[in-house]
Amino acid sequence: MNAIQRIYFDNAATTALDPEVLEAMMPYLTEKFGNPSSNYSYGRETRMAVETARRSVAKILNAHPSEIFFTSGGTESSNTAIHAAIEDLGCSHVISSPLEHHAVLHTINYLQKSKNYTLSHVKLLDSGHVDLEDLETQLARSAKKTLVSLMHANNEIGNMLDIQAVGALCKKHNAIFHSDTVQTVGHFPFDLQNTFVHFITGSAHKFHGPKGVGILYVNEKIKVNPLIHGGAQERNMRAGTENVYGIVGFAKALERATANQDTETAFIKSIKLYTMQQLIKNIPGIQFNGDAYTKSLYTVLNVSFPKTKKSEMLLLNLDSECICVSGGSACTTGETSHVIRAMNKNSERIPVRFSFSKYNNQREVDFVIEKLKGMI
Ligand code: PLP
Repeated sequence: MNAIQRIYFDNAATTALDPEVLEAMMPYLTEKFGNPSSNYSYGRETRMAVETARRSVAKILNAHPSEIFFTSGGTESSNTAIHAAIEDLGCSHVISSPLEHHAVLHTINYLQKSKNYTLSHVKLLDSGHVDLEDLETQLARSAKKTLVSLMHANNEIGNMLDIQAVGALCKKHNAIFHSDTVQTVGHFPFDLQNTFVHFITGSAHKFHGPKGVGILYVNEKIKVNPLIHGGAQERNMRAGTENVYGIVGFAKALERATANQDTETAFIKSIKLYTMQQLIKNIPGIQFNGDAYTKSLYTVLNVSFPKTKKSEMLLLNLDSECICVSGGSACTTGETSHVIRAMNKNSERIPVRFSFSKYNNQREVDFVIEKLKGMI
């Protein structure tokens, strides 16, 4: 619990800034304010900070620095990738899934109004996982250049995609592969030189970095044009003065997350498992949405509660106890989750997403369970 006694179990929406990340950013919010495009010393020192950050991020992801572009976050990165695949790489068939984040789902739907491409969705298994056999069938049947856009981990239910297996299918069928990896960069190791993928995305605020800064990885084997025009920044790929302190914060947050990944992963996993055990023990009739036990993000647990007169107000009642959880993606507050709907889940139940971080503990889980007992 933090100083004002709030319990924050919504770390898939955003995470608290790590104090060491803030410390690394501070000089670039104060005395090191130069524009990286300026040719005098102020500019050189911020240019150096941006390029050092790029090298560090590339090394951690096992990519080349020239493959890393800093953006405003996951949404912009996915917009750029999808746009580029259609506009520059000639993709006229897009295969995706109805469980994607709106940054992908809405972009694909929007671009269809002006660009000429067919869109198909992969079949889903009962667990909510992508049916890889169906993906293979669709790829084999498609005579057109195809973009496959499938997220690495679902932000609402936590299901994880076998990115290597999808990459291998895309390689076999000569398809372009984009994966929204916003929930996994900073949480899992990446080895991009040995992964068949053309675009991945990252967002600092999902791993204790600042909001408003992300990355787009573009595989060096492809050549694409920018989405945002008006300057030569990011080697002509993303115009606009760089968010220097954000970029420094992105790299520092990724370095911190990577240095402690094994211990933090084990710790957060134990909190998720403990929550599952306590829910099963104390709350009758709960169900876990998605594949909570096996191929699942260790930070996310999506639970369906039985609908009763009391539980209909669950999120509101939890909030009044200073417990922060969500009904789904932070970008769709108030609506029924499109992910739960696409999985054909019973609308007579109340889905709640709990998502954990290194700053949580078991006492918080115990407190939440006690409160839940009275609310269901
Ligand atoms: N993709 C996924 C899976 C997400 O969870 C989010 C954040 O909610 C985004 C994309 C959007 O990222 P950003 O907030 O950096 O634009």
